[in-house]
Amino acid sequence: MQESHTVGQKDLEAIAERVVYLLSQDKRDRASVVLLEGDMGAGKTTFTQILAKYLGVVENVNSPTFILKKEYKTPHNNFRKVVHIDAYRFTHPKESKVLRLEDNLEDRDTIVVIEWPSKMNYIKADIRLSFEVIDDDTREVTLVYEKDI
Ligand code: ADP
Ligand code: MG
Repeated sequence: MQESHTVGQKDLEAIAERVVYLLSQDKRDRASVVLLEGDMGAGKTTFTQILAKYLGVVENVNSPTFILKKEYKTPHNNFRKVVHIDAYRFTHPKESKVLRLEDNLEDRDTIVVIEWPSKMNYIKADIRLSFEVIDDDTREVTLVYEKDI
């Protein structure tokens, strides 16, 4: 399933809601994986912040570019944790082993969100979102749900 939305920043919450809804439809025995594609400044980190807020995270969600991986606990019933990864600095998928994602990926209560997923091409997505800049305030967001419904 694929859908595109032309959105302002305040509309990203509706997309976050849609993502959580779609992920909630399936009972997984592992983490849910959301991959965020798009150029620098397209809105990947902004979307992650809005998704985390939607799930009830109160901490500020910052770009993990230099930290690479950050974990946030949520008070949400289905998804207890958001793991935010920025793979931009990796030049080879092997380098991302330092993230120690195995436990995160096994945890069915976690949503793993990855910016620059092409640097970690061995990770399978449940949802892919790609962000394209239309103008200063507007993005085209394409959502691909990797399952036929
Ligand atoms: P990325 O993580 O993809 O490099 P960021 O989320 O850090 O991008 O930056 C996106 C920038 O674009 C932010 O300053 C954000 O406020 C701005 N922006 C403006 N309109 C939108 C929109 N509709 N969706 C997402 N970001 C937007
Ligand atoms: Mg970013």
